[in-house]
Amino acid sequence: MSHLTDSQIQGLADGTLRGPEGLAAREHCDGCAECGLELTLYTSLATGLSALTDPQPPPDFTATVMAAVQVREAHLASRRHTLLAALPAAALAVFAVVGWAFSVQIGHIVDDFATARTVIGVLTPVFAAIRVPLGIGAFVIFAVVLTALSRTLRPVYARAET
Ligand SMILES: [Zn+2]
Repeated sequence: MSHLTDSQIQGLADGTLRGPEGLAAREHCDGCAECGLELTLYTSLATGLSALTDPQPPPDFTATVMAAVQVREAHLASRRHTLLAALPAAALAVFAVVGWAFSVQIGHIVDDFATARTVIGVLTPVFAAIRVPLGIGAFVIFAVVLTALSRTLRPVYARAET
């Protein structure tokens, strides 16, 4: 009989090689010094491996993880509050821009009617006159909202850095 393969000897060492094949391999190792020595080495290796235990986590592991989770939760909560605070400002900005665009549209409609109706023709300069202030007002509101948004967002980043 030829010498055992490495996988056969490893199977003998860790007990996974069983049955007639395992018996034959065991008999060969009893009569063969070379395979017997290899089996001894693999057996001691398998014993040493099974004696290894999982490394213990540091004693403050759970506390550290929970503290990190709480910091993350607080960060998310503050971001939610910032988004809630930004929503009315964003709605106001949209309202201002839509209002400005709508005022421009009214001006065009009035322009069309003005050719047929002199009464509205009198009003046309009035709409034309207020169109520019309306646009300026909308952009001023937009700028104020953007400034307010940037100020609302800034503390979040400052808190996140600490
Ligand atoms: Zn052998």
